[in-house]
Amino acid sequence: MTKQKVYATRARVPEAIELLQALFEVEIWPETTPPPREVVLDKASKCHAIMTEVDDQIDEEILEAGKGNLQVIANRGVGYNNIDVEAATARNIKITNTPGILAEACADMTFALILSIARKVVFGDRAIRNGEWTVFDQVPYLGTDVYGKKLGIIGLGDIGEKVVKRSIGFDMEVFYHSRTAKVDLEEKYRITRLGFEDILSTCDYVSLHVPLSPETEQMISDRELAMMQKESFLINMSRGPTVDLDALHSALVTGQIAGAAIDVTDPEPVPVDHPIVNNENIVITPHIGSASRATFTAMGVAAANNIVAALQDKPIPSAVN
Ligand code: NAP
Repeated sequence: MTKQKVYATRARVPEAIELLQALFEVEIWPETTPPPREVVLDKASKCHAIMTEVDDQIDEEILEAGKGNLQVIANRGVGYNNIDVEAATARNIKITNTPGILAEACADMTFALILSIARKVVFGDRAIRNGEWTVFDQVPYLGTDVYGKKLGIIGLGDIGEKVVKRSIGFDMEVFYHSRTAKVDLEEKYRITRLGFEDILSTCDYVSLHVPLSPETEQMISDRELAMMQKESFLINMSRGPTVDLDALHSALVTGQIAGAAIDVTDPEPVPVDHPIVNNENIVITPHIGSASRATFTAMGVAAANNIVAALQDKPIPSAVN
């Protein structure tokens, strides 16, 4: 019997590739960057499944090319804004993601960002490497407390909740904004729901954890940054396009906010000649929120298991359509 064909746009998680190779004919794009569009179009027309990374753009034309043969696209990530889900559904192609695995790792990283920017961790490290720590003087490195401060979470889902859990140890007062009230979480963690603008104007740390959608794209721009307190910090652990990078740069230069720490940028990678990269009041990490080795591997295996289930006509562990 001929094996079903799977295309993997990267070979990042060997455990996932091995799992697929045991059952299917697997072809892998050999580079570390996404395969060119023509390649994905060609593979969509020939394969039964594609395993994607969050920087692979899967649009209607690619899905149309796969119509009839392509049964599933398994994204190795919880966000799936890189895939036209509506167009996939119309062609009976399943889209899957990897929820329930990466929230703890992303919450750890959110606190790494909060602490790094508030307590000048990266700034201090850079000063030492640049040979600037020549006298014992803490004044240039004075930071802002995290404990006891107000934390505002925009988008209280899986990751947002794990951030709340960590904030308890820091004695933070937590507020959140989501489109629907999370009454169970309000009771469990004694947190308060506020309007979006109230979060911006009252919280010391505003942390973004929303999916990217037409509603959340550029949800933080000049107007929103102007509402934030001058002593406050913006944290972005969601997707780059939720924040207008040029507006953020201006807010940092004018002192409209005290600082920012962002794991995601628009575009990615952030151009090294973007002026925001040279700002001392920002920490930027290369989209590594979920990237602990264990979580990274578990996400790959989950994506592979979604493909196995879809191609073997079994219930799919995490289908989004
Ligand atoms: P989730 O469980 O789906 O939570 C997202 C929350 O955002 C939901 O509770 C939702 O609540 C809220 N939300 C959606 N639209 C909103 C809006 N317009 N305004 C306010 N709140 C809104 O997702 P998650 O697992 O926590 O992940 C969140 C996002 O993080 C992902 O979609 C992904 O883009 C990003 N992410 C980034 C990394 C990284 O490496 N940096 C890693 C993983 C995930 P309501 O429906 O009640 O509004």
